[in-house]
Amino acid sequence: MAEIVVLGAGMVGIGAALALQERGHAVTVLERGEPGHETSYGNAGLIQQEAAEPYAIPRDLPTLWRYATGRSNDIVYRLGDVLKSASPLWAYFRSSATHRHRVIAQTYSKLIARSTEDHAPLVEAAGADDLIRRSGYYQLYRDPRKFDEAVGEAERVSKTYGVELRVLDGAALMAEEPVLRRRVPGAVHWPETWATNDPGGLVGAYARLFASRGGRIVKGDAQSLRQEGNAWLLQSEEGPVQASDVVVALGPWSPDLLARFGYRVPMVWKRGYHRHFSMAETLSRPVMDVANGVVLSPMTYGLRIATGAELVDRSAPINLRQVERGLAGARELMDVGEPVNGDVWFGHRPCMPDMLPVVGAAPNHRGLWFDFGHGHQGLTLGPTTGRILADLFDGRAEGVGAALSPEKRIQRSA
Ligand SMILES: Cc1cc2nc3c(=O)[nH]c(=O)nc-3n(C[C@H](O)[C@H](O)[C@H](O)COP(=O)(O)OP(=O)(O)OC[C@H]3O[C@@H](n4cnc5c(N)ncnc54)[C@H](O)[C@@H]3O)c2cc1C
Repeated sequence: MAEIVVLGAGMVGIGAALALQERGHAVTVLERGEPGHETSYGNAGLIQQEAAEPYAIPRDLPTLWRYATGRSNDIVYRLGDVLKSASPLWAYFRSSATHRHRVIAQTYSKLIARSTEDHAPLVEAAGADDLIRRSGYYQLYRDPRKFDEAVGEAERVSKTYGVELRVLDGAALMAEEPVLRRRVPGAVHWPETWATNDPGGLVGAYARLFASRGGRIVKGDAQSLRQEGNAWLLQSEEGPVQASDVVVALGPWSPDLLARFGYRVPMVWKRGYHRHFSMAETLSRPVMDVANGVVLSPMTYGLRIATGAELVDRSAPINLRQVERGLAGARELMDVGEPVNGDVWFGHRPCMPDMLPVVGAAPNHRGLWFDFGHGHQGLTLGPTTGRILADLFDGRAEGVGAALSPEKRIQRSA
């Protein structure tokens, strides 16, 4: 039995803590705030059984032109900030080439295929069934030509990875979602995807499960981490914490800590926003409004409009543009009320240039482990990479684990 501290209580950290605890290790989670209050709170709430292929940077000229001329709401950027991240972005662009992306998807699809299966026992044991909808989500198309293309692409994904797919025309969609008042050409429905109406609440429920099984959650700053001989030491509000092993699961903040230990993590931070709006009647499941690059998710707090990516410095000021365009689009489709539940939220998707999370032992430090870089699907994959990490920790060789290893992916500073 090892004494392990997991740094960070997002979906990824709590997923790892539960998996290591299940293997009989003594696990403490150190978190500076509350479990599930950061990126794992602010997302669109999808547990994406259909996302067999990770989110690539489009490489076709018409799409790049739309990005360059600011006509797309999927990705917006500030040129100066993009230039500062040129190296990891260029690597991401190269990984997005069709042949490379297909190879990456061979690994990614194996992770995604397990995702709902890995969440299921946690949802049950945590008594969190009321937070989960198992009825999929729609990708809605407003342009008939784009809809036809999307159906062809969805059929390819469905056939290649064995994911269930339904195609609905506009009338069928309106029959299933009576709040829609405008007829569109149609939607692709991925019925096997789950959605939570409270992503932060789901992490909180898993964290309580971890505590009820004897796990400790303490408040503290991960930046207090230091190594002394074979021990790792940290400061928490409850006093010093010592461990044989430490797991870095700090999501978008992981590179900040690891820089102190000589690791250069080539992360791409894709900022995303959300805002909640009141609705008298709401959707029965989330809808991605593809033309406006937003997901409209019915949450316990109201309708959450969650945006695509903004490529800016992490310190850049709030830019309401994507939320506002998403809202205008949503109001064309249904009766969306006024903002509720506070201001606009934003956070950063922690993306690796090769689109795979980093899971495994640190190359240079004994007892240091990585579990971060889940990009667009960390809510989906937290429990899955937690189990893979626990396998690696216990020396159980696991096929897919090797592809996630930090070796050769994380550079050591000179
Ligand atoms: C708009 C948007 C929509 C998204 N939609 C989806 C979706 O539908 N489905 C999906 O699967 N994914 C989605 N994602 C991605 C997903 O939210 C992330 O991949 C995931 O939340 C990352 O989880 P994490 O645990 O790694 O990070 P986090 O949830 O950010 O957790 C990291 C934790 O570390 C803590 N921490 C940081 N620094 C310190 C420190 N110094 N000391 C102590 N603690 C510290 C933080 O407080 C935080 O709790 C979306 C993201 C965005 C932004």
